[in-house]
Amino acid sequence: MKTIGYAATSCDAPLKPFSFERREPRNNDVVIEILYCGVCHSDLHQVRNDWHGTVYPIVPGHEIVGRVIATGPDVKKFRKGDLAAIGCMVDSCQNCDQCNAGQEQYCRQENTQTYNSPDRINGQNTLGGYSKHILAREEFVLHVPETLDLSRVAPLLCAGITTYSPLRNWNVGPGKRVGVIGLGGLGHMAVKLAAGMGAEVTVISRSDKKRADAFKLGAHKYLVSADDAAMHQTANHFDVIIDTVPYQHDLNPYTPLLDIDGTLVIVGQIGPLAETSSIPMVMGRRRIAGSLIGGIAETQEMLDFCGKKNILPDCEMIRMDEINEAFVRLEKGDVHYRFVIDMSSLAKE
Ligand SMILES: [Zn+2]
Ligand SMILES: [Zn+2]
Repeated sequence: MKTIGYAATSCDAPLKPFSFERREPRNNDVVIEILYCGVCHSDLHQVRNDWHGTVYPIVPGHEIVGRVIATGPDVKKFRKGDLAAIGCMVDSCQNCDQCNAGQEQYCRQENTQTYNSPDRINGQNTLGGYSKHILAREEFVLHVPETLDLSRVAPLLCAGITTYSPLRNWNVGPGKRVGVIGLGGLGHMAVKLAAGMGAEVTVISRSDKKRADAFKLGAHKYLVSADDAAMHQTANHFDVIIDTVPYQHDLNPYTPLLDIDGTLVIVGQIGPLAETSSIPMVMGRRRIAGSLIGGIAETQEMLDFCGKKNILPDCEMIRMDEINEAFVRLEKGDVHYRFVIDMSSLAKE
């Protein structure tokens, strides 16, 4: 099927309008007209080939919401006209222990990512949500609660689930003390979701600059990591710390903030960290862990949770032709807190 979008043709080329052919819908596919797509930091990394292995042309985008415009004859859970969403994955083996446990993100044969990943049947490189249409097998398509403001839902599909999954896995709820390091796209969702689950939430930041924003987002406390006395006073405090810092950094100031058996979960940086002392881990059975997005059933649970609690990201709406400027601002951390592309702007070009 023919569609249009925005693509980069090399690691130093800007994103430009791109007409392309998606595969013809299969019997189990849901075809979606995309209304909004969030702009994730991974999109920028993949366009620039920061993680190597980018296949060009690349159409990024894995925070996708829209309406179903067609369904294959075997599709059971979706009908034309339904709201629908797609996140970071469009397929997996559906057969291994991880897939069977609803943890498709850890599929033993690797999940198929929404963009820059070979399709499991025809081997073609997948192309993402910076486009007018997308299609995927129904197991990887999510229902969007009708009550939510659709223009703000898209970032839940990556930033939302990436923070929701570790909060659920480490049993965050009333009485739990959660720290959030970094207040960007992921961090601001971690604050909203943990507060929505009833936990006591502390934003941990280098300076005092984000204090007012943190409280506005629902945090209960604010800790300045450059303030040694305050850091010392907060030792042994947290059950869980969600670390959203997206570059190499030093965990040593943070691990002593965990209570005995507490866990610091890395969801931002994928790669090296500064050398880490094992003392807090050995002396208090504390843990450093990582977490990757979430499974499909858990993503649906997160969307339903956000629907019930009316939890949505803070978004800045852009037109498709503003994406290159948005990337520059994203790199500087100059966004409150997620760019969302209004895809109706693409149709008008
Ligand atoms: Zn993402
Ligand atoms: Zn699998």
